[in-house]
Amino acid sequence: MKNILIKKIKAYKNIIIAKHVSPDWDTQGSAYGLREIILDNFKNKNVYVVGEKLNLSLREDDEDILSEEIINQSILITVDVANFERVDFIFKDIVKEIFKIDHHLETDDFGHNKLVDSSAIACTQVLTLWAHKSKLSISQRAATFLYYGLITDSGRFLFDKTNGDTFQSAKILSETGIKITDIYSDLFLKKFELAKWHHEAFANASFLNNNSIALIKVEEKFFKKLKLGEEEIKSALSVLAGIEEIKIWLMAYQTPDNKKVKVSIRSRDFDINSVAKNYNGGGHKLASGAKLDSWKQLDKLIEDLSNLIKSKGN
Ligand code: AMP
Repeated sequence: MKNILIKKIKAYKNIIIAKHVSPDWDTQGSAYGLREIILDNFKNKNVYVVGEKLNLSLREDDEDILSEEIINQSILITVDVANFERVDFIFKDIVKEIFKIDHHLETDDFGHNKLVDSSAIACTQVLTLWAHKSKLSISQRAATFLYYGLITDSGRFLFDKTNGDTFQSAKILSETGIKITDIYSDLFLKKFELAKWHHEAFANASFLNNNSIALIKVEEKFFKKLKLGEEEIKSALSVLAGIEEIKIWLMAYQTPDNKKVKVSIRSRDFDINSVAKNYNGGGHKLASGAKLDSWKQLDKLIEDLSNLIKSKGN
């Protein structure tokens, strides 16, 4: 599989890399890291990263340079996206070819070729090991982007799928000389506003089903008032993690630019993906997202999660 990706990169002069909608660090780190790897290891390549910029609500600058002519002759490499619908590129239907790189459970078999390892904790892990095995050089700059994805998706090496491959990836990346403490400060040193939001989120959370389910609700008006990015708002989910009684915790929120209610669901033990996929969602066994048409559907989703706990379906 690695050879196909190398072959494809060699075959195309124009390469577009697309992230998923509502980007997180795994998709953004994968996109930026892959761009560096391609530019450092292959001659005469034009690499364009498209999509929304993480936490800025701005689009990638490369979108302005792309013409229909370039897009028609390009390969589109998607990173960290399981389903085509979530690929954040409006011209995704008119590219010449698609290559999928991912670590999600496969729900939508799009792409002409793929490099997918659903046992990997992060897409940047898949990319790091691919580059390493393919004997490509990984610069400190590329490694920095990849490391952001590795530690955010693994919850700083805490989550279930963290394994030897994760630590091998960390070793490969850290040996390029990346400044790990700078990355940690950038990611985890909280601004006062964010700390306040985390406290507020916990104080206003609902604890249901004998405290086994915890919910943070953010309605559109409140989302706007917070003046934080979507990922920052979502980061308050972490205040509900690591509490023995809480088996499943979720945040349901509505962004100003989309009337749908997005839901982020987490668990230590229960296969929440089995519920999320019935609500226009998916992801991983212990970290899934869903999209609801209205707030009314939330009660039903919570009922399904309670039933999952009752049935001990882990
Ligand atoms: P989130 O809760 O948005 O951080 O997403 C958790 C995981 O589920 C990530 O790997 C997402 O890519 C995935 N995910 C989130 N929302 C959806 C959705 N509507 N459909 C499929 N996968 C999703």
